[in-house]
Amino acid sequence: MTRPDAPAGAVRQGSLREWNLAVVLGRIAAADRPPSRAELATGTGLTRATVSAVVEDLRAGRLVAEAEPTPRSGAGRPSRGLVLAPDGPAGLGLEVNVDYLAACVVDLAGRVRHHRVHRADLRPVSPADALARLADLAARVRAEAAGEDLTLAGAVLAVPGLVDDAGLVRLAPNLGWRDVPVAALFAEGPPLTAHVDGVPPLVVDNEANLAALGELHAAPVGPRSFLHISGEIGIGAGIVLDGALFRGTRGWSGEIGHLPVHPDGPSCRCGARGCLETYAGQEAILAAAGLAGAQLPADTATTRLAELAAAGDPGTLRALAGAGSALGVAVAGVVNLLDLDTVVLGGGYAPLTPWLRPPVLAEISRRVLTAAWSPVTVRPAALGTAAAAVGGAGSVVRRILARPAGWLARPA
Ligand SMILES: [Zn+2]
Repeated sequence: MTRPDAPAGAVRQGSLREWNLAVVLGRIAAADRPPSRAELATGTGLTRATVSAVVEDLRAGRLVAEAEPTPRSGAGRPSRGLVLAPDGPAGLGLEVNVDYLAACVVDLAGRVRHHRVHRADLRPVSPADALARLADLAARVRAEAAGEDLTLAGAVLAVPGLVDDAGLVRLAPNLGWRDVPVAALFAEGPPLTAHVDGVPPLVVDNEANLAALGELHAAPVGPRSFLHISGEIGIGAGIVLDGALFRGTRGWSGEIGHLPVHPDGPSCRCGARGCLETYAGQEAILAAAGLAGAQLPADTATTRLAELAAAGDPGTLRALAGAGSALGVAVAGVVNLLDLDTVVLGGGYAPLTPWLRPPVLAEISRRVLTAAWSPVTVRPAALGTAAAAVGGAGSVVRRILARPAGWLARPA
């Protein structure tokens, strides 16, 4: 199964027409105001006639549309610029996590058009039931998207675990899932339009990787290399190097939650001892803050911790300082290894950044060899809990932008 961020079919092997379609669409996507056909011709070096023909193809495939006319200053006709079609193809992003389900629709311009989160503890629920609930949530956002004439071009389903190429979840320790055929179990409802590049309509991927992709594209002028940490009940990381996700040999990189902080520490769900998760996972923080039995849903738990910390509650401040130190030890190891200068705290960590950042930075300055010459930035993620679903949905539309000819040639 193709990964959602795999390069789209190589344009250079395609025809001149394929190349022109991608270049013109790319210009329209990157422009800060709707470019006219004349401006596209100047910007691309193509003739006016070629640009007009390419634009007609893109309009026929509902990839671009004419913007509302803007009056020109002075005399002359109002100019009609071109924008990415607001009612064209879109991506469906889905996520099953330990304590919530999420579904969202992202349009061609990367806007989140519909988004729903359902909070529930999914640990006691069977994989089939959890995926059935996710299918219900997906059906609701799909109906909303259909009401706006969006065409879903594919779906990406995020899972907090190790996913193999066939969409089989080998292990999701915090959900208690082992060898669950998620792609086969998920009944996505009416078939999605298959993209002709050989990508199946539904791709299953790791939640932390997709959240890092979401973050990469949420801030297009941001750093091109960073570590994105999703701090939920489990802790996962996505490693972005030079604008691309580093997946490792089998796609299983980023399991930062199981880096050892103290080799003889508490038992972890993975079977080892003293993993980062046992010190800085959400349940460990709640326990250290004296809130273990409070049965707070995840969003409430993070909000509650932030409120207590802001109010100066000593137990919460101690818990966050301890979690931040453990996180800093693990992060320092990654920074030493990969020479990164930006660490993004995502998921439940984002709102706790004011309290986690100082101990993380303290460990980095203590342990990272190069810290004196190359400061490391630790900042909260731009996207919240939706990051993985948004990152997955966005990867669907980015493939179309990279190779519009594939979309235009899709089977009817
Ligand atoms: Zn572990």
